[in-house]
Amino acid sequence: DVPVITIDGPTASGKGTLASEVARGLGYHLLDSGALYRATALAALQAGVPADDEAALSALAAKLPLRFDGEAIWLGDDNVSRQLRREEVGALASRISALPGVRAALRDLQLAFRRLPGLVADGRDMGTVIFPDAALKVFLTASAATRADRRHKQLISKGFSSNIDDLLQDLEARDARDRSRSAAPLKPAEDAVSLDNSALSIDESVQRVLEWWQQ
Ligand code: C5P
Repeated sequence: DVPVITIDGPTASGKGTLASEVARGLGYHLLDSGALYRATALAALQAGVPADDEAALSALAAKLPLRFDGEAIWLGDDNVSRQLRREEVGALASRISALPGVRAALRDLQLAFRRLPGLVADGRDMGTVIFPDAALKVFLTASAATRADRRHKQLISKGFSSNIDDLLQDLEARDARDRSRSAAPLKPAEDAVSLDNSALSIDESVQRVLEWWQQ
């Protein structure tokens, strides 16, 4: 049995950083499931597929020419690592992730990441839908203000322009959509442990998860 740790939570709660540090510490594989929704959104933008065409979007998701190479993500012949972080791409990913057909099309791709020696998976429904038998499920939260501030700094450091008030509004809209959708809504798994990292450093959060894992 391949062990899995899931880390779910709202936008910009620090899931990605925490998951990659925990995976590095344990020597496990990493699944950034949001990247699959973002890649589907980017492919839809490039192909001009409308955001409400579930059949076309599902077909696109089912045959995404996606390749993970260390930190880099390739879509066909393009390294799209940077493009996937664009706010426009994130916003469209949030919309199309509400479509059950798109979620179903990305399911097998996510399950394929479960390989020895183990997997750390981050997203919204890792512990509830994709890996319900995970040995450790973390539900990560942070205040909206903390999350907007972190996202702001991240965008600025990557050379994107950013407005903190717009970000806060966008985060809250995206969270509301993730929580209220009928397909795999964002919520903690019944057996998840909650971690609010508003006042924790990255190292402290990583240590907390590693301690839970060793128990
Ligand atoms: O985590 P990230 O911001 O990269 O995800 C982009 C969007 O994809 C999220 O806003 C969310 O709506 C969606 N998503 C999802 N299920 C996942 C991961 C991401 O619905 N497992």
